Amino acid sequence: MQLRKMFFVLALPCVLAACATEGGFNTEQALTVGAGLAQAALLDKGSVQQAASEAAQEMDAQNEILGPNTEYGRRLDKIVAGLDTSGDIDFNFKVYKSDELNAFAMPDGTVRVFSGLMDAMPDDQVRAVLQHEIGHVRLNHSYDQMRKQLLTSSAFNAVASVGGTIGDLTSSQLGQIAYAFINSRFSQSDELESDAFAVKALHRMGEDPAAMKRAIQTLQQKAGAGGGFLSSHPSNEARSKNIETTIKKLK
Ligand SMILES: [Zn+2]
Repeated sequence: MQLRKMFFVLALPCVLAACATEGGFNTEQALTVGAGLAQAALLDKGSVQQAASEAAQEMDAQNEILGPNTEYGRRLDKIVAGLDTSGDIDFNFKVYKSDELNAFAMPDGTVRVFSGLMDAMPDDQVRAVLQHEIGHVRLNHSYDQMRKQLLTSSAFNAVASVGGTIGDLTSSQLGQIAYAFINSRFSQSDELESDAFAVKALHRMGEDPAAMKRAIQTLQQKAGAGGGFLSSHPSNEARSKNIETTIKKLK
């Protein structure tokens, strides 16, 4: 219930975030109009990751988590075992009880999958979606997006204008930034890049890379044109073609 309420409350920022991205968001322009160089300077990689961790804690507190001893938690463990999580980011995974067909990853390594998405597809497809989300983190898309959300957040700008830092944001402000992040869009090239990342990673792990294409087809069938994972992504056809080309090049 809480989740739905937050989505409702944040309807306006979501729309704005989407428009900003579609129209070619210009961070430098946002800086001169809104924040300022001092705020931008506060946002090094560590600070953005710290904001993501704190925002994730707030999200976890607001949502019902299906823990490790539930059917969903056990299934998630099995799925995660086949993922490539290598690199310098420590990924952590949890299931939120929600009918939404969605999953997201934050730049600190927080990965959350909604039970609705796990209900909609078999393990290999859920794994492909999660590997795609990990791609957004490893390719710095999530970092760029979180930084953008902070720079356009009135709460962050208010705190920064009096010399404060991310640690001075309240939990409800962090929650709002988290929801704006989840509802924001990546660019089409980011999406295609993450699909290709997932294909290669799944192949390296001995998993079927074509599960990425099947996952998109499943989402298309179940979610139609409606929200969730697909809403922010390029056309099904463009993604499928990109996935097929990447699979052909695998060694
Ligand atoms: Zn994506």
